[in-house]
Amino acid sequence: MKSIGSSSSEPAAPPVGLPLWLLAELTYRCPLQCPYCSNPLDFAAQGKELSTEEWFRVMAQAREIGAAQIGFSGGEPLVRQDLAELIGEARRLGYYTNLITSGIGLTEERLDSFKAAGLDHIQISFQASDEQVNNLLAGSKKAFAQKLAMAKAVKERGYPMVLNFVTHRHNIDRIDRIIELCLALEADFVELATCQFYGWAELNRVGLLPTRAQLERAERITNEYRARLEAQGHPCKLIFVTPDYYEERPKACMNGWGSLFLTVTPDGTALPCHGARQLPVAFPNVREHSLDDIWYRSFGFNRFRGYDWMPEPCRSCDEKTKDFGGCRCQAFMLTGDASNADPVCAKSAHHGVILAAREEAEYSTTPIEELTYRNERNSKIIARG
Ligand code: SF4
Ligand code: SF4
Repeated sequence: MKSIGSSSSEPAAPPVGLPLWLLAELTYRCPLQCPYCSNPLDFAAQGKELSTEEWFRVMAQAREIGAAQIGFSGGEPLVRQDLAELIGEARRLGYYTNLITSGIGLTEERLDSFKAAGLDHIQISFQASDEQVNNLLAGSKKAFAQKLAMAKAVKERGYPMVLNFVTHRHNIDRIDRIIELCLALEADFVELATCQFYGWAELNRVGLLPTRAQLERAERITNEYRARLEAQGHPCKLIFVTPDYYEERPKACMNGWGSLFLTVTPDGTALPCHGARQLPVAFPNVREHSLDDIWYRSFGFNRFRGYDWMPEPCRSCDEKTKDFGGCRCQAFMLTGDASNADPVCAKSAHHGVILAAREEAEYSTTPIEELTYRNERNSKIIARG
């Protein structure tokens, strides 16, 4: 481990950890158009995707500096025809391999090829528990049936069944039906994650943020199911993730900037988290720099390490070693300055924007059809300004 400096009156900056988690965003192409997608709004204007050989080099370099797990994500990673090859190479290098997918584009043959390549883990995301809402949100008439079929095929191949439901004000009231569907599919782990407001979700926040009453009801029902499943000795684990808009302290985003997570985007830009591309910070590209240089010496990865960059109230706050001032992307989106305390924090002078968003959620009437869907057309319009 290598460390960066700090003044003697401050708590010592934590040593720079190893990039244990490599998120390989293989492509921004995706057949679906979820209005809560965390991809950048201008994804359609991004540069050329890394080739198979370039990904091989990235995976080898990341492994050399300590990466142990790799997540293949996107966009929809299944769009890449070299996915089995990439999985095979990751496995050969000694990674624990995860595929994070919507299941669209998956076939039994491809699943078999991933299994043969050594894939360890698959997570399938659903949009809703019923076909109509799921397909509307996904922007595809076939999405739901395809997901059900592929969830069964994944289970049949001996993978742990990991399902992810992004919840929001249009589906969270059906949490019981969502859980029932997961149980019917024999899921081992279910992540019920209220959408986090980055990328397209932030653009659609007024139409997506649930009310406090919706959230509390959903959490109560989840806890009741959890207790029932535990009493039955049922193997399914339910994980409920609340949006930080209803918290008074921010999350320790990414476990601290540049401390554990390394994201490489489709065009090779390296980021400390997948949302960081929107920040006014120059981030390096794997086509021009080694990952060792990027992780330890680049301006972008050192920009918010340690505590010296913090203004008040974080600078003199005794909680800064716990939450590192929260999320830099959220601070930038909601205050215009990425150095500010995350406004989720009640100590932030900007906490009012969070309170206003909660208030807005109480009165929002945006119908599901009027959300801005994540697709090439909308992205190009946004990119043009
Ligand atoms: S969130 Fe939806 S639109 Fe975004 S990459 Fe995933 S499946 Fe595609
Ligand atoms: S003031 Fe900053 S360091 Fe203190 S709790 Fe709030 S966000 Fe965390």
